[in-house]
Amino acid sequence: MKKVVLSHRISREAIKILEGVAEVVVTPEGDADRFAELLEEATAAIVGTSIKFTAALMDGAPQLRVISRTGEGVDNIDVHAATARSILVLNTVGVNTASVAEHTVALIVGISKQLVFLDAQVRKGNFQARRLYLPVDLEGKTLGLIGYGKIGRMVAQKCLQAFNMRVIAYDPYISPADETDKIEFCETIEEVFKEADYVSIHVPLTDSTRNLVDNRLLSLMKPTAYLINTSRGGVVCEKSLAEKLRKNEIAGAAIDVFAEEPPGLENELLNCPNVILTPHTAALTKECVTKVSMAAAEGVRDYLIG
Ligand code: NAD
Repeated sequence: MKKVVLSHRISREAIKILEGVAEVVVTPEGDADRFAELLEEATAAIVGTSIKFTAALMDGAPQLRVISRTGEGVDNIDVHAATARSILVLNTVGVNTASVAEHTVALIVGISKQLVFLDAQVRKGNFQARRLYLPVDLEGKTLGLIGYGKIGRMVAQKCLQAFNMRVIAYDPYISPADETDKIEFCETIEEVFKEADYVSIHVPLTDSTRNLVDNRLLSLMKPTAYLINTSRGGVVCEKSLAEKLRKNEIAGAAIDVFAEEPPGLENELLNCPNVILTPHTAALTKECVTKVSMAAAEGVRDYLIG
């Protein structure tokens, strides 16, 4: 019988779909070595973002025919190496858009209203923090989007409708003339960094976006502005961001994704003021985990039954 190896546990219903067509083996969470061993006999693999699916890993899996991602970004999979070995790479396009957009808005609200910081002050008995650290309002502020794809668009809609924000965007791959939303498109990425009160990153991690948000772009931001990143950690130069935060050269940041996950304790962002950090959970809502599990499993089942 064909074998499907999962890098992590997925929903019961999704496992049932796979059990109809194959033997299903779940790797103990976080055990990359065991995952590599299990791949030796696998026809299919289902992975999240924690596994770096390199050419070497594929070479240890001679029967592997399909890799299915429980999510959209395939930056952790060497797609060229997979193609060269006739291994199909599947992802679950659009399934997590609403969850990531909601998480982005939650981070924008959370950092503006200082929710995490003020919560800690109340617990410490420092009720006077209410007079010392004033939150800011979103009404009328400018949201700047880098990347106007599925998630960027949904964040734009929510911020326009819920907070009456002005939304500007930079995305060289879309045609502004085709857009009907009340968005102002910028010709350069620099314009967004200069003008926005919130710069929110929604691009894929590719060779051309790695370290896109570097010291030069961060230096253009207003001292009152916030950086939000729910795309991929590798898009932002974390060292430069940490320095801007420590020197109060920007007002704050809210980050769901890290260049290295989990981030090492030496990662400077962990000790910066005015930062909210979440552990790559934007798409890990109860609803979304079920939906992406089903979509990833259905992709493998469809492939296996031809
Ligand atoms: P999408 O493909 O719909 O949109 C990406 C947009 O980025 C496209 O419109 C593209 O033209 C644009 N783009 C590419 N390079 C650019 C550049 N150099 N400058 C400006 N724009 C550029 O993808 P999406 O569904 O909106 O998701 C965006 C990213 O969010 C994904 O690639 C993934 O890395 C990340 N993501 C994160 C989570 C999470 O849990 N935090 C979950 C899902 C997706």
